[in-house]
Amino acid sequence: MLEKDIERILYTRADIQQVNERLGKQITADYQGKNPLMIGILKGAIVFMTDLIREIDLHVEIDFMDVSSYGDGTMSSGEVKIIKDLDTSVQGRDIIIVEDIVDTGRTLNYLMAIFKTRQANSIKVCTLMDKPSRRVVPVHSDYVGMEVPNEFVVGYGLDYAERYRNMGTIGVLKPEIYSGK
Ligand code: 5GP
Ligand code: MG
Ligand code: MG
Repeated sequence: MLEKDIERILYTRADIQQVNERLGKQITADYQGKNPLMIGILKGAIVFMTDLIREIDLHVEIDFMDVSSYGDGTMSSGEVKIIKDLDTSVQGRDIIIVEDIVDTGRTLNYLMAIFKTRQANSIKVCTLMDKPSRRVVPVHSDYVGMEVPNEFVVGYGLDYAERYRNMGTIGVLKPEIYSGK
């Protein structure tokens, strides 16, 4: 039902599973003897986060933060604000920010600044997707699932007007969905 609105599937469930396994192995190897705090950025990263942590063979803790830079549509307002803050203190912790996609880089840039002020011991970024062609602020991601072209993608946590987050694949919507026909 959901996939009938998709013009092109970019990543199947199997593609995404492979990526999660690869990232999970890297994080497991890099954090041996540590107890990282994984911070999922709501709501887009929720599906990725829940699958990713099950590929990590370490004790990890999880927390979530909700920041907003987008309205309901596809255009960035350029503003970032905290909607929901963490429950956990990051001071002295090894944190991994888990993002669905890095686009302009504004959200990540803002988050990095916050976690530096809060004196995390180390800060790394794990993003399912990276859209480097759209970067406005230079930001570095340590773990990247896949590089995507300059297209608006939905599924696997990513929405268009709060829809399609529960689609298991990632794809590009048919143009008529945006025009509301
Ligand atoms: P930023 O522009 O700050 O790097 O991206 C902020 C957020 O915008 C991302 O974490 C994601 O939630 C949303 N976003 C960016 N590109 C896309 C996209 O192609 N599709 C969807 N659904 N959301 C996106
Ligand atoms: Mg996001
Ligand atoms: Mg969104």
